[in-house]
Amino acid sequence: MNIIILGPPGAGKGTQAQHLVETRNMVQLSTGDMLRAARTSGTEMGKIVADVMDRGELVTDEIVIGLIREQLEKGSEGGFIFDGFPRTLAQADALAELLEESGNTLDSVVALDVDDEVLVQRVVNRAKEAVAAGNEARADDNEDSMRTRLMEYYKKTSPLMGYYHAKGNLKSIDGLASIEDVRTSLAAVLDA
Ligand code: AMP
Repeated sequence: MNIIILGPPGAGKGTQAQHLVETRNMVQLSTGDMLRAARTSGTEMGKIVADVMDRGELVTDEIVIGLIREQLEKGSEGGFIFDGFPRTLAQADALAELLEESGNTLDSVVALDVDDEVLVQRVVNRAKEAVAAGNEARADDNEDSMRTRLMEYYKKTSPLMGYYHAKGNLKSIDGLASIEDVRTSLAAVLDA
């Protein structure tokens, strides 16, 4: 089973994806994680994406599609969870092609419904908690970047809701419920 978890930054996509990895033998493909790994690798690509990410803007379609293509080639027995990808219509079209080429299907697109102001607070708190635990906060977990990330989401990613609705595989769940309740709703959608 291959699924997309769709939702604005801070909606809890990664948290839910990790649980599916642990319980369903799925592979999480988070382009955000891949890009964060790339930026610490000292490569040319890493340097280019670092500034863009810190501002809260989207990196180019070409870069993220390339990253996803590489991972899809490795295959996954339990299927893939796309987390933070696709974020544009061009990425969504590319994903459809990549899946078709490899004989895979897209089984569900689950949108996490959330409220913006709660998200800004969540992300600011995530940064504070990281610092309190002695870790470094994500460079883009601050209010200014978060507002840009939300605007990028509404301009470029939210049209994917209509796109997947038209394709017939969009399901929405309440993303503001507790982590446990979101897990339950997500499982219900996937097992329906
Ligand atoms: P995330 O961890 O998913 O919130 O992603 C962090 C940052 O990485 C985003 O704000 C973008 O700058 C970049 N990024 C992650 N995934 C994508 C994507 N699919 N397309 C473009 N940029 C992305």
